[in-house]
Amino acid sequence: MQPLIDNARMFGRRPEEFARLAEGQSPDVLFITCSDSRVVPALITGARPGQLFELRTAGNIVPPYAAERPTAEAATVEYAVEVLGVSDIVVCGHSHCGAIGALVRGDDLDAVPAVRDWLAHAADEPEVADAEDPACADAVQHHVLAQLLRLRSYPCVERRLAAGELRLRGWYYEVHTGAVREHRAATDAFEAL
Ligand SMILES: [Zn+2]
Repeated sequence: MQPLIDNARMFGRRPEEFARLAEGQSPDVLFITCSDSRVVPALITGARPGQLFELRTAGNIVPPYAAERPTAEAATVEYAVEVLGVSDIVVCGHSHCGAIGALVRGDDLDAVPAVRDWLAHAADEPEVADAEDPACADAVQHHVLAQLLRLRSYPCVERRLAAGELRLRGWYYEVHTGAVREHRAATDAFEAL
């Protein structure tokens, strides 16, 4: 922890590059990904402060929309779409994802009941075909597409999509190579960017 604290202490001494950030934010992209420490959106995309609005959840899960029960995830999506007016939403899954791996393997999660119940509530049944693949590539990619479907059911997303003002993108990031693939509708496959 100490090196991180030392860096944070020095960070506040950076030049005026950040002064303009006090005027507000107008990011073009809502980037939804896993909480995994190996996934660093700004590193992957080269984004500078102010360029990416982020939502991070265990397993980059977008929970089902429920108007009667506000969630942090729905609030973040709604703010990005309605207030910030982002043009793109990226759902980025990643290789070797602990959450998806646990689902694929059927791990006993009773010791972490919040994780167990979050996954049970919010995730679809995983593809079990690649249970032997430590990267869980097929399951993660299937899962990314399921989250994009979920997003489409959010009223604000549905409206902006119908107006042609929003694009949804599914990404798959390999933590061990840095490669990023995007889902292409034409081939229904994740292909190199
Ligand atoms: Zn993950």
